[in-house]
Amino acid sequence: MPIPRESQTQELRGQPPKVGPRSVRSPLSMRPYEEEEVKALKGVIAWFRQSSRRLTAEYRRLEERVADLNGELERKNRELERSLREREAAWGYLLSVLESLKAGVLVVDQDLRPTFTNRRLRELVGEVDERRAVQLIGEKLAYRLKRGEKDFLPLECERVVHGLGTAAIPVHLIVSEVLVAAQKSVGYVLVFQDISRLKRLEAEAARARRLAALGEMAAGIAHEVRNPLGGIELCASLLKELGTGRVGQLATEILTAVQRLQTTLSHLLSFAAEPRIAAESLPVPLLLKAVEEMALPLLCRGPWRLEIAVEDNLPPLWADRELLLQALLNLVVNATEAMPQGGTVRITAQRSVLYSATGRIHREVEIKVVDEGVGIAPEDRERIFDPFFTTKRQGTGLGLALTHKIICAHHGTIEVYSEPGQGSCFTLCLPVADCGIPSLSPVVAQSERLQPDC
Ligand code: ADP
Ligand code: MG
Repeated sequence: MPIPRESQTQELRGQPPKVGPRSVRSPLSMRPYEEEEVKALKGVIAWFRQSSRRLTAEYRRLEERVADLNGELERKNRELERSLREREAAWGYLLSVLESLKAGVLVVDQDLRPTFTNRRLRELVGEVDERRAVQLIGEKLAYRLKRGEKDFLPLECERVVHGLGTAAIPVHLIVSEVLVAAQKSVGYVLVFQDISRLKRLEAEAARARRLAALGEMAAGIAHEVRNPLGGIELCASLLKELGTGRVGQLATEILTAVQRLQTTLSHLLSFAAEPRIAAESLPVPLLLKAVEEMALPLLCRGPWRLEIAVEDNLPPLWADRELLLQALLNLVVNATEAMPQGGTVRITAQRSVLYSATGRIHREVEIKVVDEGVGIAPEDRERIFDPFFTTKRQGTGLGLALTHKIICAHHGTIEVYSEPGQGSCFTLCLPVADCGIPSLSPVVAQSERLQPDC
C-alpha cells in the first residue's frame, strides 16, 4: 500500500479559505457584509468536508498499511520460530549423535578454552576445564596451536592420557580445525578413541607369537634330550640290577632324576604340540559343573570354597570340552595355590560386550576365575604365560602356558588383572557356537591331548 505523499499531507495541512476580518459595523451596514461572510463560511465548510474526506481516505490507507505490516510481522515471526525450531532440532540431533559416539569429543576455542565435551570423553577423563584441556592436547601441541600454527592439521597420533583416577589410557587422537563460513577458524575439535582393548589384543598377539617361538624351540630341545635320556635310564636300570651297596643307591638316584626329567619333557612336548580341537556346541553351565566335579578332590584337601555363578540363557560355546576343562582346572589350581591360608575361588560366566576388533562383530562369553590370594607382582604379569616361568618351589611353570595355548586355539583371549595382596582375576573370552569360526572343525581325531597342570 502506498504511503501518502508529502504533497498530499501538505494539501491536508493546507490553509482554509480566508474569512475576511470581521469589522465593526453599524446596524445599517450589516446586510452586504453578511452575504460575504456566508459565502466565505460556505467555502470553509466545503474545504473542511473535502479535507475530512481526504483525511478519512488517508486514515483507511494507513489502517490497511498497518494491517499489512502486522501480517508481514506475523509471517516473519512464524518463519523465525520455525527456523529456531529447526535449529533446535538440528542441534538436538547433532548433540545426540555426539553423545552416542564411542569416541570422546572435545571442542576448544582458539585460546584452547573448552566449549564442548561429549559424554564419552567425560566418562574417560572426567570434567574438562582449561588446564585439563591443555593436558589432554599435550603441552607441546597446545603451545603450537596457541601460536596459531596449523600447517600440520589435521593431525593423527597415539598418546596416553590420564583417565579418572590414576588410570593411563592409550588413545588414538585426531585434531582438526573447526572452520565456519568463509573458512573462518573458530577453534579445534579433538577426537579421542580409547585403544586400550586394541593394545591389549596387540600385546596378546605378540605374546602368542613369542610363545609359539618358545614352543618350537622347546620341542626341538625335548626331542634332542629324549633319546640320550632313554639311554641313561637303561644304563641306570642295569647298574641298579647289577650293582649293590653304594652303586645301587647311586643308580636309584640317577633313575629318580631321569624320571623327573622325563616328566618335564612330556610337559614340554605337550606344550609344544598344537592342540587338536574337537569343537562342539558346549553349554556353559555343563562345562562349569564338570569343572566343579573335577576340582572337588583338590578343594577337599584344603580350606577352599568354589562358587560358580552363570548368567541365565547364555549361548553355548563352540569349544572342545576336554581342553577347556584342562584350561579352567589349571586356573582353579593356581587360585588355590595363591591362597595357602584358604579362601574362595569364584567362577562367573556372562555375555561379553559386543565389540569389533577388525570391523567384524564377535559374540563372546566371558568366563572369570577370581581368587583372593597373594596376587601377581606387576613385573611378573607379562611373564606368567611363558613356559617354565614359576614362582613356586614345586612349580612347572607350564599351567598358564598350556591354558593360554588352549584359549588361543579356540580363537579366544585370556587376560589377567591382579593387585598384589588383593587377589587375581583371569578373564577368558570365548566365541559362542553361532559365531561361525571356520577353522574350529567340529570333529578332529584327538590323538595327543595336552596334559593338565594338576
Ligand atoms: P606353576 O603353577 O607351575 O608355577 P603356572 O604357569 O600355572 O605355573 O603359573 C605361573 C606363575 O604365575 C605362578 O608360578 C605364579 O607366580 C603365577 N600365578 C598364576 N596364577 C596365579 C594366581 N591365581 N595368583 C597368583 N599368582 C599366580
Ligand atoms: Mg600352575
